[in-house]
Amino acid sequence: MRILVTAGPTREPIDPARFISNRSTGRMGYAIARAGVRRGHDVVLVSGPVCLRPPPDVRLVRVVTAAEMQKAVRENIAWCDVLIMAAAVADWRPAHMSCRKLMKNEMSEKLLLERTPDILGSVRDLKGNRLYVGFAAETENMISEARRKLLEKGLDLIVANDVTRPDSGFEVDTNKVTLLTPEGVVEELQVMSKDKVAEKIVEWIEWYEGTRTLEE
Ligand code: C5P
Repeated sequence: MRILVTAGPTREPIDPARFISNRSTGRMGYAIARAGVRRGHDVVLVSGPVCLRPPPDVRLVRVVTAAEMQKAVRENIAWCDVLIMAAAVADWRPAHMSCRKLMKNEMSEKLLLERTPDILGSVRDLKGNRLYVGFAAETENMISEARRKLLEKGLDLIVANDVTRPDSGFEVDTNKVTLLTPEGVVEELQVMSKDKVAEKIVEWIEWYEGTRTLEE
């Protein structure tokens, strides 16, 4: 399979010294890219700014902002069979980047925010037979929130990610996730390494693609 994975945060510039971003380190998305290659797939990894070594045998596309990530996803969507949006796209960006550093007292009046593009939404009409997988990092009502996003974004699978636990979510090597499809909960996984979670996700995708081929 040809797998397009996004990873890491995006950064939305405020001025030459500051940006809006989030706590994503990219570890989950990079683990998925490695698992994909290990299991014999072709992988393109669209990565926001992270401090991780590029995985071998992966085509890496580096981006900074949500707009750049959207462009890279749209440029590679026709190539892929599977899109896995593991990136934590910043939800808001400054409406204008100031070309000089804003004074502290200018922030409240000059900093106007607008929504970033919805990347999954912008490739929805290009889905065809492709498999779309999203992530939902949640602090409360994890399953119902993930289910809402799964249906709203027209995904085949969503990985609901508990980010309240110290051993799951941002800035750690382990994760606690539940896999959900439109039919319901597939599997609630125990806490395990992000590499193992990645393996489980890629295995599920292979199984799902196998059942679709059988149906044809
Ligand atoms: O941020 P949120 O929890 O809504 O993210 C759910 C899914 O949508 C994730 O897979 C994320 O990568 C994706 N997303 C996106 N474009 C955005 C925000 C999130 O494609 N602007």
